[in-house]
Amino acid sequence: MSRSFTSTGSKLSAEPLSRLGKGVNLLLMTMQSYWCERALLPDGWADAVLIEVDVAGTITTVTSNMDAGDSHRIDGLVLPGMPNLHSHAFQRAAAGLTERRVSGAGADDSFWTWRQVMHGFATNLTPEDNQAIAAQLYVEMLKAGYTAVGEFHYLHLDPNGEPYADRAEMSHGITSAAAEAGIGLTHLPVLYSVGGYGGVEPNDGQRRYILEVEDFLNLVSGLISTHKDNPQVRIGIAPHSVRQVPAAHLAAALDGFTDLVPDGPIHIHAAEQVKDVDEHVTYSGARPVAWLLDNADVDGRWCLVHATHLDTGEVSGLARSGAVAGLCLTTEGNLGDGLFPFLDYLNAGGNWGVGSDSHVSVSPLEELRWLEYGQRLISRTRNIAASGTGGSTGARLFADALAGGAEALGRPIGAIATGKRADLVVLDSDHPQLFGRRGDTLIDALIFSGNVNPVRHVLCGGRWVIRSGRHGAEDQIFAAYRTAMSRLSAAYL
Ligand code: ZN
Repeated sequence: MSRSFTSTGSKLSAEPLSRLGKGVNLLLMTMQSYWCERALLPDGWADAVLIEVDVAGTITTVTSNMDAGDSHRIDGLVLPGMPNLHSHAFQRAAAGLTERRVSGAGADDSFWTWRQVMHGFATNLTPEDNQAIAAQLYVEMLKAGYTAVGEFHYLHLDPNGEPYADRAEMSHGITSAAAEAGIGLTHLPVLYSVGGYGGVEPNDGQRRYILEVEDFLNLVSGLISTHKDNPQVRIGIAPHSVRQVPAAHLAAALDGFTDLVPDGPIHIHAAEQVKDVDEHVTYSGARPVAWLLDNADVDGRWCLVHATHLDTGEVSGLARSGAVAGLCLTTEGNLGDGLFPFLDYLNAGGNWGVGSDSHVSVSPLEELRWLEYGQRLISRTRNIAASGTGGSTGARLFADALAGGAEALGRPIGAIATGKRADLVVLDSDHPQLFGRRGDTLIDALIFSGNVNPVRHVLCGGRWVIRSGRHGAEDQIFAAYRTAMSRLSAAYL
C-alpha cells in the first residue's frame, strides 16, 4: 500500500517573498512541490526526489536525496507517464463486437472484413457518443498509466457526409473529452481524400471522413489557434495512409501544415497489411514506406503507425530518418496484421513507441509485453530488447517507449526532468508483483510478472487525476458512456 498520500495545496517558496516582485510572488505561491520516496529519472532510479512544478504544470527542478520538508509526500514508486501514440477513440465502443466470424465458407475473416464492420459502426455515432466514448477511454488510459494520447481522428462529417455547423464539432468532442479526463492530448485530424488507389470514390462507410485539403487545413488552423495557450494540447495532422491520400493531396497538406507549424507532429498509417504493400507496389511500383521515405520529407516530426511490413532497406531507411514507428501490438494481434521486424529495427537504432489503437486492450504494459513476446515466439530466443549482457529487457522497452512516444506526440513529456510536463504515475511498492524488487528489475517485474494493475495515483500536467485508483469524475463520465453504449448496443447487438 502507499503509506501516505496527501492532497495538493499551495506551497510557498523557501525564498523570502519580500525579496521578490509581486508577480513572482504570485507564481511561487501556486508552485507545487512533491517529494517522492523513489522515482525513475532519465539516468535511473533515485531516492528522496524533490520535484517542483510551476503553475502551468511543467517541472522546474528535480533533485534527489532531499528532505521532504513541507512538500507533498508521495510514497511508492514514481514513473514518468507513458505516451499512447495512437488512438481511434470511438473504436473503444466496438471492442469485443468484431470477434464473430463474418466470412462464409472458403473465405477468411481479416483486417479487411473487420474494417467493413468498423466503418459501419462509425456511421451512426453522434457528437455526444463521440465525446462520451472518448472521455471514458481517456479515464481508462490514465488509470493504466498513459498520461498522453495521440488521437488519430477521422470522424469529421455528420452521418450524411455533410459538415456540421461548426466544422470542428467532432474535434471539439475529442478535446473536451481530454479536458474532462485531464489527459494530455495530441489531436491529429485525419486527411482522408479517396476511397482507395486510383481515386476510387469513397463508399458509404467512408463518407464521414472525406475532406478537401483546403477544408482540412482550415480545420487544423482553427484548432491550432483555439488551443495555442493550452500546454495540455498539441495539434498535429494525420494523412490517413498512402492508400487514402493521393500524392498531390499529401504534398499539399504537408506544405500547408509545415507553413502553419514547422515542427508539428505528422502521423500516417503505413504498411499495416501485406495487401497494403502489394497494392501500393501495383499502383506505384514502390513499397509504401520506401515511397514515403523517397517522396516525403520524413524526419523526427513523423510517426509511421504500424510499419509492420518492411524490407531491409525500409528498416534502415526508417531508422535513419529519425521518425517514430508507432507499434500497437494488441490491435495488430487482434487484426492479424503480422509482426514488426523489431530486432532489426532496434539494431538499426530506430525510434519507436506504443499505442492502444483500437483499444482491445488499454495497457502500456501489455503492449510492451507483446512486443517482446512476439519476437521471442518467432525467433525462439529471449530478452530481445535488452541492451547487451546483463541489460534489462523491461527497462529498455520502457525507456524507448517513453522517448519515442514523447517524440511522436510532439510534447515535452516522457521523463521526470526539468522542462517536461509533470506527468507522474505512482505505483504501489507493496504490491505483490513488485515487492522486494529494486532497480531495473522493478520494470521487468512490472511488465513480465502479472496482469493486476499496480497504478495507484496519477498526476497529469501537475494535476492529480487518479487518486487511489479512482478518477474524480469517473461516475459522471461512465454515466454518459452508458447512455451512448445503450443506444449503440441497440443498433449493433
Ligand atoms: Zn490506426
